[in-house]
Amino acid sequence: MSMIKKVGVLTSGGDAPGMNAAIRAVVRAAIHNNLEVVGIRRGYKGMIDGDFIPLVSKDVSNIIQRGGTILGTARSEEFRTVEGRRKAYGNLVGANINACIVIGGDGSFQGAGIFSKEYDIPFVGVPGTIDNDLYGTDYTIGYDTALNTVVEAVDRIRDTASAHDRMFFIEVMGRGAGFIALHSGIACGAEAILIPEVDGQEEALHEYLKSQGNKSSNIILVAEGNNVGGAEQIANQIMVKYPEYDVRVNVLGHMQRGGSPSAFDRFLASRLGVASIDALIDNQRSIMVGFVNHDIVHVPFNKTINASKNLNKILLDVADILAH
Ligand code: ATP
Repeated sequence: MSMIKKVGVLTSGGDAPGMNAAIRAVVRAAIHNNLEVVGIRRGYKGMIDGDFIPLVSKDVSNIIQRGGTILGTARSEEFRTVEGRRKAYGNLVGANINACIVIGGDGSFQGAGIFSKEYDIPFVGVPGTIDNDLYGTDYTIGYDTALNTVVEAVDRIRDTASAHDRMFFIEVMGRGAGFIALHSGIACGAEAILIPEVDGQEEALHEYLKSQGNKSSNIILVAEGNNVGGAEQIANQIMVKYPEYDVRVNVLGHMQRGGSPSAFDRFLASRLGVASIDALIDNQRSIMVGFVNHDIVHVPFNKTINASKNLNKILLDVADILAH
């Protein structure tokens, strides 16, 4: 029988649509299991500051459809220090919190893993990041919504691009991972896609630009961490080298993080939130709950932090075949 009585829940790192749906699921699943829940505001920063708020079922009413996170999120340098984590532990003990659910990315799980080694407070992670770059889960909360947001934006840009016979370089999020660029690129029929996981794409881009002639518009999707450069920088080079193209740039930026979560992200957040409480009750520690082949899995923090999630590079060929 588990000794856990009061669970803290926090959102940490970059915000992602569906985090609220995950908070709701954690709170209601905990209450269903006769556990009390405390919201920890602004991630590990709030843990260090003791910024806690009790949560009951009605506190999470009417949030499943809202983007952002009602608890706020932050990046905390202090939590990286022994002293910062000591303060956080003191606050958790003071509030009688004896387990935590952290909704975030690999950095958040790394912090949780270190903390749990130093202090006897179990953590379970719920993958929440628009980048979908976490090993051990097919999808992360927020990715599907961000993908749909990008597709909608690119469709709009395509309308004006084709009206004016223009080439658009559209930069999307993805510092270390090209999931958003590659999948939205296929969904939008992008003519070329640049992602961090592949080297030598500059040459392929030039080959494409030299070879194509009868397209009325071109959409080049650029993941921000690709190996050729930022959208602005690449566009400037192309304008010099290929003056025949009427080139424009669009950096989608933070709009990719916002908005009401998609049905899939709400569903995923609900399942993972419930699974995180089940895992705690089942005495699981320092694991992330993931979603693989439409089923719940448990992945140790050190595995999801250290292993990298493979992007299916065959999809670049799919995009290429369909762009011609
Ligand atoms: P995203 O993928 O959206 O960036 P993330 O969870 O990876 O989300 P990070 O900024 O990497 O975001 O990490 C969130 C917080 O986790 C950090 O601000 C810090 O407080 C804590 N953290 C990360 N790495 C460590 C570490 N090595 N030791 C202690 N705390 C850490």
